[in-house]
Amino acid sequence: MIGMRLAEVAAAVDGTLVDGAAPDAVVTGTVEHDSRKVGPGGLFVAFRGEQVDGHRFTAAAVEAGAAAVLAQERTGVPTVLVADPLAALGRLARAVVDRLPDTTVVGLTGSSGKTTTKDMVAALCARLGSTVAPVGTLNNELGHPYTVLRADADTRYLVLECSARGIGHVAYLCGIAPPRIGVVLNVGAAHLGEFGSVEAIAQAKGELVEALPADGLAVLNADDHRVRAMAERTKARVVLVGTAADADVRASDVTLDAAGRAAYTLSTVDGSVPVRLGVYGAHMVANTLAAAAVALELGMPLAELGTALGELRPASGRRMDVFTRHDGVTIIDDSYNANLGSMTAALQSLAAIGTGRRTWAVLGYMAELGEFEQSQHEQVGRLAADLGVDRLVVVEAVAGGIHDGARERARSNEWEGQSVQVPDQQAAIALLGDELRPGDVVLVKGSRYRTWQVVDALRDDSG
Ligand code: ATP
Ligand code: MG
Repeated sequence: MIGMRLAEVAAAVDGTLVDGAAPDAVVTGTVEHDSRKVGPGGLFVAFRGEQVDGHRFTAAAVEAGAAAVLAQERTGVPTVLVADPLAALGRLARAVVDRLPDTTVVGLTGSSGKTTTKDMVAALCARLGSTVAPVGTLNNELGHPYTVLRADADTRYLVLECSARGIGHVAYLCGIAPPRIGVVLNVGAAHLGEFGSVEAIAQAKGELVEALPADGLAVLNADDHRVRAMAERTKARVVLVGTAADADVRASDVTLDAAGRAAYTLSTVDGSVPVRLGVYGAHMVANTLAAAAVALELGMPLAELGTALGELRPASGRRMDVFTRHDGVTIIDDSYNANLGSMTAALQSLAAIGTGRRTWAVLGYMAELGEFEQSQHEQVGRLAADLGVDRLVVVEAVAGGIHDGARERARSNEWEGQSVQVPDQQAAIALLGDELRPGDVVLVKGSRYRTWQVVDALRDDSG
């Protein structure tokens, strides 16, 4: 963290210095809520969790060198006493941002692709100057401040992922680090159970562009009508990205190679460059266009951008990781998470990569859909059939709607493929072990851990 005196910390978080916390002591180390990670000059935040109460570890933190602890009760060590440590953490992060006027904050939101695109934006920004971005998905009221607190006076770009599980969440995150550039990727059915409607999700995502200043920039997906409509909700300049004819940063002549990597012509008012992506899936066109718009705004020349986009590599962590085994079976591991939007993108990628080959979709449960669970799973099943998947393996009874949707297509003779529902991942692994043939292409996808064992088993089989 940038150096701050405890008096400044207390003022920022509306706290009181107690138990020997000296106003002139300086926090120079990192802010941590795990006392084992605290180092000299650090600040320990005591959260009262359901399992563990961080207030028990304040002495250990101070022993490890913490300048003070941020806590909601007195424990006898130098403390910045606050009513709500989580809110205080957010306010502290805001105070840090306010002390970094030369840092440009870029916020991203959307139903699918935030982490993927955040990593792309961060990689492009890093070519322009010192960049801080979360590692992986740190995108909520707890993770967000930690990332912000890593910024210092050298930080030119702070790239942040903003997730919304309800109305007001994105606005809260924007209060912690007000973005000058805001990117909205798409509005889909993630967390539909909590929101109740896709319109409510659009309302929540749009809070990002509402937070932008008049001299800011809103990067909006021209190909998603709910995102495009957010142009009405911002004071900032708007750059539309997409394949639509009126997009300001536009992709045309989009092609996918046999491996599923897209190439396209990137056009802006300043000209065009060819782009050949190293990442997989047609949906990466939208993600890279959004990242491109940010880089252009930050001054990257178009020619360099064309090269830089080609050098982007897949995000880690089971997101569109495509590999071919020694026996010629290609695996598309997109098993990180799933909702209707990302299932659609992945199934389209499977269809593209699997052209002329036998295709398998091993699909598991999509979480957090509440009353929409059955209908959303059915849609995925119908879509898999409509895209001509040859073999569908539906993992677990909770994902059974996918099987139902596909069988509906089979019954009406609109699909010649086969769908089977298996009770668990082990059964899916056994089935694939028996039936996969060299040259087959297999997509594996579900929410979180639901299909990870399948991917791991397919990897182990690679010999
Ligand atoms: P989370 O809400 O879990 O943080 P996220 O929005 O950060 O998710 P990613 O982790 O980048 O999204 O990707 C999640 C899934 O969505 C992956 O399967 C990925 O391949 C897919 N995906 C990435 N970009 C898009 C896109 N533009 N449209 C649809 N699916 C996408
Ligand atoms: Mg994420």
